[in-house]
Amino acid sequence: MAKVAFIGLGNMGGPMAANLVKAGHQVTGFDLVPASLDAAKASGVTIAGSAAESVKGAEVVITMLPAGKHVVAVWSEVLPSVAKGTLMIDCSTIDVDSARQAHALATKSSLGSVDAPVSGGVGGATAASLTFMAGGTAQAFAAAKPVLEAMGKKIVHCGEAGAGQAAKICNNMILGISMIGVSEAFALAEKLGLSHQALFDVASTSSGQCWSLTTYCPVPGPVPTSPANNDYKPGFAAALMLKDLRLSQEAAKASGAATPLGAHAAEIYETFDRAGNGGVDFSGIVRHLRALGQQ
Ligand code: NAD
Repeated sequence: MAKVAFIGLGNMGGPMAANLVKAGHQVTGFDLVPASLDAAKASGVTIAGSAAESVKGAEVVITMLPAGKHVVAVWSEVLPSVAKGTLMIDCSTIDVDSARQAHALATKSSLGSVDAPVSGGVGGATAASLTFMAGGTAQAFAAAKPVLEAMGKKIVHCGEAGAGQAAKICNNMILGISMIGVSEAFALAEKLGLSHQALFDVASTSSGQCWSLTTYCPVPGPVPTSPANNDYKPGFAAALMLKDLRLSQEAAKASGAATPLGAHAAEIYETFDRAGNGGVDFSGIVRHLRALGQQ
């Protein structure tokens, strides 16, 4: 079992750190928010007074932070205090450039590093059933895998530095586009007098089948566990979907890829967010699309 430093004990990091403790790792954590520290302490995490203090003696350092700028700042801050041979892992969802910058900082300190963003949300973080998409050398990935396995069910090595982030934003671009597609189909079905259940029964076993329909259906009824049955409480908040769609568009621009539907999905979620719906589950976009229709 490893000595792990965990920085960023928020909605995701808190339960992930708790699962590392449950698996027998010795976890020292840090966050800027006192309530997050209290919750982590209650789950067996030793609390440090600063990020730099948390990494002292650690064999593995994990960060789970909001955005690229936080990751680069925290890695820059802690790397001088990190011991030789320590593995650096970032699980946040960030832009590919910042991920590569963080890898470069670790390489400069002669440390192995992995970008390992996750899919599965707070539910997956709590149940230790996350999917990790990892980027880094084969050696760094092999060292990270046993630690990630305490927090997830599926650990995929996607390629070199930044490949995990690339996989994450490509996946979430599909998700944003497909959720809008499924929601438009339900809005059209309503206008045509077709019941939600009838559309679901047909599309879920036809060529329109996808995760946004069968697992996360944006209208109440057909999939009882979807947020539509709980007044669109997240789940996965629209603001986070917008963040990931923006990341996909930054990456598309930088790499010269054409993603017209990704761009349009980002615009639609932008409008939804600006209307005060950032905290609503991203499947609530169906309400926005309905409202665009004529009476
Ligand atoms: P969160 O805001 O709940 O947690 C982030 C934590 O980082 C906060 O507690 C904040 O205080 C802390 N933090 C920020 N700067 C810090 C610093 N300098 N030092 C120490 N702590 C610092 O966010 P979250 O929902 O846990 O998401 C974390 C990351 O995971 C994000 O990149 C997000 O996009 C990604 N993600 C979230 C979900 C989800 O469903 N919530 C799903 C997949 C991926």
